[in-house]
Amino acid sequence: MASLIDRYGRRFPYLRLSVIEACNFRCSYCLPKGYQARPDLPRHLGVDEIRRLLTGFARLGMRKVRLTGGEPSLRRDLTDIIGVAAAVPGVEKIALTTNGVLLPQRIDDWRAAGLSHLNVSVDALDRARFAEITGHDRLPHILDGIERALALGLSAVKLNAVLLRGLNDDQLPAFLDYLRDRPISLRFIELMQTGDNLEYFRRHHYRAEALEDALQTEGWGLLPRAADAGPAREYAHPDYRGRIGIIAPYSRDFCAGCNRLRVTSSGDLRLCLFGNVGIPLRPLLQDEDQADELQAALISQLGLKALGHGLHEGQTGLTPHLASIGG
Ligand code: SAM
Ligand code: SF4
Repeated sequence: MASLIDRYGRRFPYLRLSVIEACNFRCSYCLPKGYQARPDLPRHLGVDEIRRLLTGFARLGMRKVRLTGGEPSLRRDLTDIIGVAAAVPGVEKIALTTNGVLLPQRIDDWRAAGLSHLNVSVDALDRARFAEITGHDRLPHILDGIERALALGLSAVKLNAVLLRGLNDDQLPAFLDYLRDRPISLRFIELMQTGDNLEYFRRHHYRAEALEDALQTEGWGLLPRAADAGPAREYAHPDYRGRIGIIAPYSRDFCAGCNRLRVTSSGDLRLCLFGNVGIPLRPLLQDEDQADELQAALISQLGLKALGHGLHEGQTGLTPHLASIGG
């Protein structure tokens, strides 16, 4: 059976699909002025187009899909999209990355539709600090939603926090306290430079290695890397139920562990988060008869995937901010 494998031998069982570019938050590192609609952007993929897309990827070995954005919960048909993804033969894990603002109202439905993995972005556990970073004073509400997700017994609940010098670099004790009794994995993500945030990046970039030194001092130990693991470095501590993952896109071996492809909300394949080309798949998603054509296009495009990104040289490719591609 044909499968998604590139010329460097990397496999791609993981697809990150942006379902909408718009967002209702104003995270200072992502959309500091809020989402500005782009009149030239084609409409997001519909549910049938998404089903054909996921079916095509699954036929080539994709086993996990992450729905992201923008803010995916802004789509009223998100529950239907989850249901469609869950019904695609071969797809085993359905993940969602969200700012969590609709979690308390919607998580039960998403779970019932087949959601298995949840990531919620929480950049600070201090309410005022959270409001300062995201532009919205919704932390208690989001934390309630996370408790509900834990009660529903999803396969994994994770928190994402972007490391920000001067904004949340004093939050480690609060995060550790939160992890003591909760089976949650907290992912600290090193701030990435994008087309729009150069000045911000210079001011707030905080090296993941500095945080890892602090964790090791606190007794956290690096776990051996699982063969199918993504780019996160995982830490555990015997006194804590939770774990910590470090996502350090500037580290040397980051791209060697790449196991993911991306599709934007309007159906462009992106081979790399910071790549220079978007390959339009939408024309191949209009009819069930196009399945073979779609499969052939995916295989041939994968042949063009580069070994690594150009972030070290400040090359951010087509990505003005991560909401535009699905971080
Ligand atoms: N709106 C959803 C959310 O915030 O979870 C999903 C989309 S958001 C673009 C996905 C993830 O990318 C979030 O965890 C966010 O914190 C992260 N992110 C956004 N911009 C980033 C940047 N410049 N560097 C590192 N992570 C970033
Ligand atoms: Fe919106 Fe997510 Fe970007 Fe924050 S990180 S502005 S919630 S897309």
